[in-house]
Amino acid sequence: MEKRKKKTLYLVIPCYNEQEVLPETERRLTEKLSMMIQFGLVSEKSRMVFVDDGSKDKTWTLIKQMYEENPLVLGIKSSRNRGHQNTLLEGLMTVKDECDMVVSMDADLQDDIEVLDKFVQQYYDGCEIVYGVRSARKTDTFFKKHTAEGFYKLMNHMGVEIVYNHADYRLMSSRAIHELEGFKEVNLFLRGMVPLLGFKTGIVTYERHERFAGKSKYPLKKMVAFALDGITSLSIKPIRFITALGIFLFIVSIILLLYYTIGHFVGNTVAGWSTIVVSIWGIGGLQLLAIGIIGEYIGKIYLETKERPRYIVEEFLKDKGNENE
Ligand code: UDP
Ligand code: MG
Repeated sequence: MEKRKKKTLYLVIPCYNEQEVLPETERRLTEKLSMMIQFGLVSEKSRMVFVDDGSKDKTWTLIKQMYEENPLVLGIKSSRNRGHQNTLLEGLMTVKDECDMVVSMDADLQDDIEVLDKFVQQYYDGCEIVYGVRSARKTDTFFKKHTAEGFYKLMNHMGVEIVYNHADYRLMSSRAIHELEGFKEVNLFLRGMVPLLGFKTGIVTYERHERFAGKSKYPLKKMVAFALDGITSLSIKPIRFITALGIFLFIVSIILLLYYTIGHFVGNTVAGWSTIVVSIWGIGGLQLLAIGIIGEYIGKIYLETKERPRYIVEEFLKDKGNENE
């Protein structure tokens, strides 16, 4: 282990209104990162980067202050709130040339930072991407656990390849991030995009803790929106499903037509009314559903064709050591 060249690790941490957790997060990560540097696991150029996602509270002031006081802390400020995924991408793309590998994590340290060594170890073993996978969801509420697990199952059924119980706690090599840059979509669902990169990958399992302060920024409404985004951004299975349903209904209606025609000639009078009303409502509903889903995709195409920037960096508090180079 002594002989190999030490690599530089950056931790990228998106923060939105996280003033309650930041000081503690900084304290714990400083401790962890210093240890890793001291034991020669990563180079002394390793840093943690807090990316402020246009917070309304004192988050950015805190980050600037930490940057002044703590040589391990860097900061990036988004020009406005863009959401977790965009902020994460902003962080990855901004630091990709400053380091050899990046681990992305949440500001609330729900993801166990003690496994960072394992991530780095797998990187040295040749993995370009290492996924953090939760072993248990003991601390999540019953509701959160089941909705979240349902989410992974639904995604897989819908044709989105994601790693089960992996959120965005993940190591990516600088190389993998450079390749990710080639994915130009505006609708970001990183945990579905990263597996598309390929490369040698690894898995690290860990236990997820409770948020130690502040509130979750992912209420149910956002979670559902996130799942829908993931499906419609990465898969066209729902459209295929509609086509299949259309074919099926067409066959059923032909059978019904034959049945009623024969009934007519045999002499049974058609009961009429109820059948018609039921089918009008049934078909009408299905059509609306189908149009809705198609509309969803057209909306996405509309957004994608605009090719707007996915984030705007307002300020980058760089490594002070690098400025003089
Ligand atoms: N986050 C962000 N922008 C947002 C919402 C959230 O950067 O618009 C960050 C947040 O600060 C945290 C991470 O994304 O570091 C995950 O959010 P949270 O912990 O609230 O989600 P949960 O763990 O409850 O799913
Ligand atoms: Mg969290």
